[in-house]
Amino acid sequence: MMIYFAILLIVIPVLIGLLIMIFEGIDVERVSMVYLPLTLLVAIYAGMGLWKGYKMEVPTYRLVEVLKCTQCGFEDITDPTPGDYINMEKGKCPRCGGSMKVSLIYKERVKS
Ligand SMILES: [Zn+2]
Repeated sequence: MMIYFAILLIVIPVLIGLLIMIFEGIDVERVSMVYLPLTLLVAIYAGMGLWKGYKMEVPTYRLVEVLKCTQCGFEDITDPTPGDYINMEKGKCPRCGGSMKVSLIYKERVKS
């Protein structure tokens, strides 16, 4: 995003300079036929890039906890509570009634 901003900063003065040159009539044809469209293109590209960067969402993450039954292997995904750790016993298995253990705690990217 900073790159696009830098490009815009460079391109805008160049564009203004070119416009002044055209108004003053210095080599009008060459400047307007080649450099002006080119600079405009770069400016549009940079502007679009900036807009994209501006609209880009900051990714958010949530913590996910995987509980696994020690007897039948049943897995359940829940939100972790503070103080949870791997291999901690947590609740009963809904399938067989055995004890559930925390097997994984990881970060998951959330799409909004
Ligand atoms: Zn079980």
